[in-house]
Amino acid sequence: MHSRCLLSPVIACLLAFISPPASAQVRQSFTIDASFPGGNILVNKIEGETVTLGPDQRDSVVPWFYWYYRVTGAGGKRLTFVLGRDNLGARGPAVSLDAGRTWNWLGGQAVTDGAFTFQFPVKADDVRFSVGMPYLRANLDACLARHRDNPFLHLEVLTKTRKDRDVPVVRIADPKGMSRYAVAITGRHHCCEMMASYALEGLVEGALADDPAGRWLRANVDFLFAPFMDTDGAEDGDQGKNRAPFDHNRDYAGDPPRYPEVAALKKRLPEWSAGRPLLFLDLHDPALRTDIHETVHFLEPEERDMAARMDKLCTALEREQQGPILYRKAHNLRFGAGYNTHIARPSPLSAGWARSLPNTLLGCTVEIAYANAAGCEVNAHSARELGRDIAVAFMHFLREEHATAVGK
Ligand SMILES: [Zn+2]
Repeated sequence: MHSRCLLSPVIACLLAFISPPASAQVRQSFTIDASFPGGNILVNKIEGETVTLGPDQRDSVVPWFYWYYRVTGAGGKRLTFVLGRDNLGARGPAVSLDAGRTWNWLGGQAVTDGAFTFQFPVKADDVRFSVGMPYLRANLDACLARHRDNPFLHLEVLTKTRKDRDVPVVRIADPKGMSRYAVAITGRHHCCEMMASYALEGLVEGALADDPAGRWLRANVDFLFAPFMDTDGAEDGDQGKNRAPFDHNRDYAGDPPRYPEVAALKKRLPEWSAGRPLLFLDLHDPALRTDIHETVHFLEPEERDMAARMDKLCTALEREQQGPILYRKAHNLRFGAGYNTHIARPSPLSAGWARSLPNTLLGCTVEIAYANAAGCEVNAHSARELGRDIAVAFMHFLREEHATAVGK
């Protein structure tokens, strides 16, 4: 076990505060902590202006890279943070100067040998750093508040978590009747994968938009969004990926499932879709680096009819996209390629389970790179715009499906 695992975050925070600096030239008055929603850090060592730290793995059995910490009292200082190469993405760390409300990438050029240096603005008293741009329940609530008076929008509680938190479900549906199609979008089966949440928010906003696609979708589609399929993990700042004994996206073959969110969705989705043609997308972020992961890619289903439908949806997305992330169908992962080889029956994966429902047109996983999608910057704005583009693609896909069905 790595030595940093022996320090709890709280103790590390105290050490940061009370330990005498190795270099007498630096008065060490700053603190580092993760005691806020989504927080995750283990501080290993502080020597002068250099802090060595890394992700708290908690119950993940494969080392993962999620971390999110706050530095206070460092105004005017220049500090170096050593996180290790495997824990920093293509555009370096994300930095927030407003307590986590807005984020920017520091940039890949700021990282050398797994470390970055940050010059704290003199008046910055709460600076947050993270491997990505954390998205929490408060972010979802802020999004929904912007549409509070929209009669199509409903916030519901899917179930309670083990820690008694509400698991939110967002519905966008015509209050006057049942729509022809059902579209379900899930996120955060792996709770650390926060960049996908901005795409999910963009899908919500696309479905609510006062534009031709939004109007068509609200007239024809009943949307169900489950933004936090590991709600406790997202708020507590867990890795979630490869959680022991298995994570939330490996829980769908269980009878009953291990996690309350999964058990509730397995019950709710068939009831809610009620036999209507169903589209199901499960949004993820992939690994942090390497070529295959630095793209937006859909995972092709094994079933040939669904693979053909995915191709139609992706053709519409490639053709109609307007946002700054340039999606390319060629980046999709064909079944049998790379890591897209899962064939267990029944499938423990959410998308595999959704495909097993008799009314499912298409169920698949979508991977959205953390920071760099084939050269395009992934950030809160561009990921939201990708979500809006996917919403528009839904309209084109479903219109085509309808025309095919009518023509039969
Ligand atoms: Zn994932």
